[in-house]
Amino acid sequence: MATGKINVSVDNIFPLIKKFLYSDHEIFLRELISNATDATLKLKHLTNIGETDVEYGNPVIDIKVDKENKKIHVIDQGIGMTKEEVEKYINEVAFSGAEEFLEKYKDSAKDSGIIGHFGLGFYSAFMVAHKVEIITKSYKDEPAAHWTCSGTTEFTLEGSDKQERGTEIILHVNEDDEEFLEENRIEELLVKYNKFMPIPIRFGTKEETIPLPDDAPEDAKPETKTVDNIINNPDPAWTKQPTDLEDQDYKDFYRELYPMQFEEPLFHIHLNVDYPFNLTGILYFPKMSQDMNIQRDKIQLYQNQVFVTDNVEGIVPEFLTMLRGVIDSPDIPLNVSRSYLQADGAVKKISSYITRKVADKLKSLFNNSREDFEAKWNDIKVVIEYGMLTEDKFYDKAQKFALYPTIDNEYYTFEELKEAIKGNQTDKDGNLVVLYASNQNEQHSYIQAAKEKGYKVLLLDSPIISHLLQKLESSEEKITFTRVDSDHVDNLIKTDEEKISKLSDDEKEKLKGDFEKVVPKENYTIQMEAMDSTAAPLMITQPEFMRRMKEMQQTGGGGMFGMGNMPEMYNLVVNTNHPLTSEILSADEETQQRLIKQSLDLARLSQNLLKGEELTAFIKRSFDMVK
Ligand code: ADP
Repeated sequence: MATGKINVSVDNIFPLIKKFLYSDHEIFLRELISNATDATLKLKHLTNIGETDVEYGNPVIDIKVDKENKKIHVIDQGIGMTKEEVEKYINEVAFSGAEEFLEKYKDSAKDSGIIGHFGLGFYSAFMVAHKVEIITKSYKDEPAAHWTCSGTTEFTLEGSDKQERGTEIILHVNEDDEEFLEENRIEELLVKYNKFMPIPIRFGTKEETIPLPDDAPEDAKPETKTVDNIINNPDPAWTKQPTDLEDQDYKDFYRELYPMQFEEPLFHIHLNVDYPFNLTGILYFPKMSQDMNIQRDKIQLYQNQVFVTDNVEGIVPEFLTMLRGVIDSPDIPLNVSRSYLQADGAVKKISSYITRKVADKLKSLFNNSREDFEAKWNDIKVVIEYGMLTEDKFYDKAQKFALYPTIDNEYYTFEELKEAIKGNQTDKDGNLVVLYASNQNEQHSYIQAAKEKGYKVLLLDSPIISHLLQKLESSEEKITFTRVDSDHVDNLIKTDEEKISKLSDDEKEKLKGDFEKVVPKENYTIQMEAMDSTAAPLMITQPEFMRRMKEMQQTGGGGMFGMGNMPEMYNLVVNTNHPLTSEILSADEETQQRLIKQSLDLARLSQNLLKGEELTAFIKRSFDMVK
C-alpha cells in the first residue's frame, strides 16, 4: 500500500473547501455526477474515434444511498483511472484531467460535450464527507486502484479487485450532513441538477403500473412492475435541431420543465448559435400577468446539460427574465460576481443575441399571422413594452410590431395609428395628440365624450405605461399622449377656435369667487370653461403631466423628484354655459353654497373620489332632497 501527501500549496485546503468555497453543500452531487458523465463521454469518444476496442454498451450512472452505514456511492461505467492516473488527476488538485484530455483531442473532442471546469469538482466531495474512497478500473488492461483520504492531505493508494470498468466514489457522510442520506433529499437534488444530463442516471428502482390491454375485463386491476428509476432525460429538446421538432415536442418539453404549470405557453423561440459563442436553448412566452415581479426566475441556465442556476440576471436582459425556458452555454463564466458578469464582453454578446432573436421571432409572428398576434397581444405586451422601455435596440425593432389597441379592439401599429388619427387629432401646433384611457369603466364618460368627437381612444393599461409614453414622446417626432380624463374634451386637442360664452368676463370672475369660497383650494384648481350647455356643469380632471409623474414615481423611478408625495391635485372645470351655473350665479349665498357643494360631490362621485364620511353625508343629504 502506498501512502503520500497530496501536493497542495495551502495546507488547510479541506476546511477551506468546507467553509468557503461552496456555500451550497448540495452541489457536491452535481460535481461527482458531472465527473461520472465526463468519464463516460470520454470513453464514448475514444470508442467513436477507434482509439480503443472496448465495448461501450449502454452505460448508466448509479447513485446509491446506504443510510445504515452513512455512505453515498456514485458509480459510473466510464473511462476509469489507472493507479498512475489517480496519482496524477486526483492528487494534484490544480490539475484538470478534462483540460488535458481536451488539449490532446482538441479538434475531435469539440462536439463530444465534455463538461470540464466547474471549479474544484471532485474535491467538493469533502464538503459533505469526512472520508472519501475511489475504487476505479481503467478501460486499459490494468489492475484497479483504491484511493482513500480522510479529509487531510494524507492519502492511501492500493490495489483493488474491482473487475468492471469504471469508477466508484464512496462518500462517508459527515454527521452534520446527514440530510444527504435521505432518499428524498437525494432525489430532489438529482431532479434539480441532473434532470437533463446526457448519460442516464439510475437511482434505485420504482414501481410502474402496466397499462391494461384494451380487451381487459372491467374489474381487472392493473399490475405493477419494478423498473429502473431513471432520473434524467438524456436528450432534452433544446439539444436537438429545430427542424427535428414539432410544435407538440416544444409543448411537451415545457411540461417537462414546469410540471406544475397547467397553462400552455403562447409560443417558443429556439436558440442555436455556435459562433462567436456557443449557446443553445428554448425560450417560452407564457401568459403574462400584470404583476411583473412574481414571474421572474423561471429561466434555467445549464452548462452542457448540467443545471447551474435559475437566476439568469445579467445574462438575459432584464425584460426577458419574465420568459421561461432553458439556456445552455459553456461560454458563460460562472465563478464570478454578477457585476463582473454584466461587464463581460462574451456575456454582453449573448444578451444582445437573445434580444435580437426574441425581436425577430415576434416580428415573424406579426408578419405571418397578424390576427393571432393581436389575439396574444394582451398576454405578451408587458414584456414587449418593458423591453421597449429598457433596451433601445429592442425599441427600434419593436416599433414595427408593437400594437396600440383602441377601446374598440382595433389594433394599430405605431405607423398605422399616426395615419389613422392625423386628420382629426392634430392640434394647432401640428402635434399629433394620441388619446388614451387606462380603465374602460372608470373613465367611461370621458371616453364617450372623446368618441363622440370622432377621436380614437387607445386602451393602455400596463403597469409601466406612463414610463413608455414618456419614452415615446421623447423618441418620436411631434407626438403627445393625453389621457381622456386629463381635461375637458374640447381642450384635449387644442384648436384656435374661440368658444362663445354666455357669461360676461365680470360674471365669470364673480362665479369663480363664489366657487372658491366653497371648494377646498388645496385639492382643486378652478377652471372656467365655456362648453356646450348640454355638457356637465362641473367636472373633475387631472392634468396629464402631474398624473403621469406621480404614476412613474409609484412604479419605480423616472418621475420628478418628490412628486410621489405631493397631494392629489385636480382641476375643477366649471361649465359657464350650463343653466345650473347661471342659477348659482344669481342665487343667495346660502343656496349658492348648497348648490356648489352638491354639484361638487356629484362630480367627485363620477370620478370615484367621494368616499367615507363625505359619501355617507352626501347620500343622506340626497335622500332628504328626494323625499
Ligand atoms: P475537473 O473535472 O474539473 O477536471 P475534478 O477535480 O472534478 O476536476 O477531477 C479531476 C480529474 O479526475 C478529472 O479531470 C478526471 O481526469 C479525473 N476524474 C474525476 N472523476 C472521475 C471519474 N468518475 N472517472 C474518471 N476520471 C475521473
